[in-house]
Amino acid sequence: MTPQFFNTLSGRIEAFEPLNGKEVRMYTCGPTVYDYAHIGNFRTFIFEDLLRRYLESQEFRVLHTMNITDVDDKTIAGAAREGVALEEYTRRFTDAFCEDLNTLNIRRPNHPESEPRATADIPVMIELIQKLVETGHAYESDCSVYFRVNSFPNYGKLSKKRLEKNITGARVDSDEYEKEDGSDFVLWKAAKEGEPSWESPWGKGRPGWHIECSAMSMKYLGATFDIHAGGEDLVFPHHENEIAQSEAATTKPFVRYWLHSKHLLVDGKKMSKSEGNFYTLRDLLGRGYDPMAIRYALLATHYRMPLNFTLEGLDAARNALKDLKAFYSSVINHEVFGRRYSAEDQLMSNAQDLEKDFFGALADDLNISKALASLFTFVGETDTRIKSGALSEQDHSEISRVLKRCNQVLGVVPEERYGDFPEDIRQWHEERKCARIEKRFSSADKCRQKLSELGYIVWDEADGISGIAK
Ligand code: AMP
Ligand code: ZN
Repeated sequence: MTPQFFNTLSGRIEAFEPLNGKEVRMYTCGPTVYDYAHIGNFRTFIFEDLLRRYLESQEFRVLHTMNITDVDDKTIAGAAREGVALEEYTRRFTDAFCEDLNTLNIRRPNHPESEPRATADIPVMIELIQKLVETGHAYESDCSVYFRVNSFPNYGKLSKKRLEKNITGARVDSDEYEKEDGSDFVLWKAAKEGEPSWESPWGKGRPGWHIECSAMSMKYLGATFDIHAGGEDLVFPHHENEIAQSEAATTKPFVRYWLHSKHLLVDGKKMSKSEGNFYTLRDLLGRGYDPMAIRYALLATHYRMPLNFTLEGLDAARNALKDLKAFYSSVINHEVFGRRYSAEDQLMSNAQDLEKDFFGALADDLNISKALASLFTFVGETDTRIKSGALSEQDHSEISRVLKRCNQVLGVVPEERYGDFPEDIRQWHEERKCARIEKRFSSADKCRQKLSELGYIVWDEADGISGIAK
């Protein structure tokens, strides 16, 4: 089935056909490493992870680049506040960010091998700015360089903003701004006293934020590539400026599909550092939340729907995930739990229907709510039938295959925890089963207690069968 995605550029859903067969070149704007990322940021990174995992599930080979913005207004201000070198300051938050990606089971960018840092690619940025100056799209003023917005007639095609005025020579120097008056934006900023700087044809200075992404994406993925994604706040000015700089320099279309996720909100407002209404991943882990419940909560709402964050919502996600994990474990560990197989295949076609519905929903602009609904309907319909002995060996292998395939896209049930319980866990579990059969209930309770301290859920079914999941 051909995937379809909403393309911000055309403003409609389009069939997704990469330039080069089954190869997808994808760029996602990475974090600005001036602080710990908050879970609003991770809503976007998890949406991008879903997109990548879904494409990979359809046998696309995704070449995924994500930059690390380690030089901009905010990182420089942060390092100055602490009185440490920029590199030392950003390294700390880059490491923390990579750790958070792993904790949330987000697939790491693979092209080039790891996330490129902006400060390591300054020469390509300078080269791109030089080209813009040579072709009249940029000009120098007081050792800074600006992009001449009215030299690019298509400016505004992504954000659909019509420039109010087009004042030649009006300029913005800050990386982030909301003005729509056609001011020229900065590509290279002249060094200020005490700030980190690099040599350039215009004297010492540093790149603006927008040019970083144009230069790095085109360096690693080529002048025209398939997907560029980010949160909705990046549409203007960041992505609009990226298009202007890149297309003005190469005269080729820059990106074919632009995908943007809606914000994570708190009481109707964007979660952000400046509003102070944010949780970092670490805050929530400190409150005892399982990272997979956090992943699930951020993943389960369609990426183009606003999502209001509450701790109650996170509790609901935790419960939904608990049911899913218990079911998953119950199927995968059918024999470990001491169940027998039926002689007749009864559930194979249900599993195949699930596969069709789940992946069909994702092909439709990543309709995750519909995909999850079909998964939970399947769980509801088959759970009791499995427990009452309706599972044949063939059913078992088919259901296991489909569940694993769905989970490879969702990434919420770390598989290694299920196929093979560690030896001590198996022993506690066996000991508890025996204690129950022999009616040594206080020993059985102790084993349950021990397993729950180690993070395992334990439950009992009819006929002495007991299940376990982490
Ligand atoms: P930054 O580190 O600010 O450059 O942001 C990194 C990514 O997080 C970008 O793709 C932003 O669009 C995204 N982002 C920032 N705030 C939110 C939010 N409240 N909800 C969803 N995505 C966000
Ligand atoms: Zn960017």
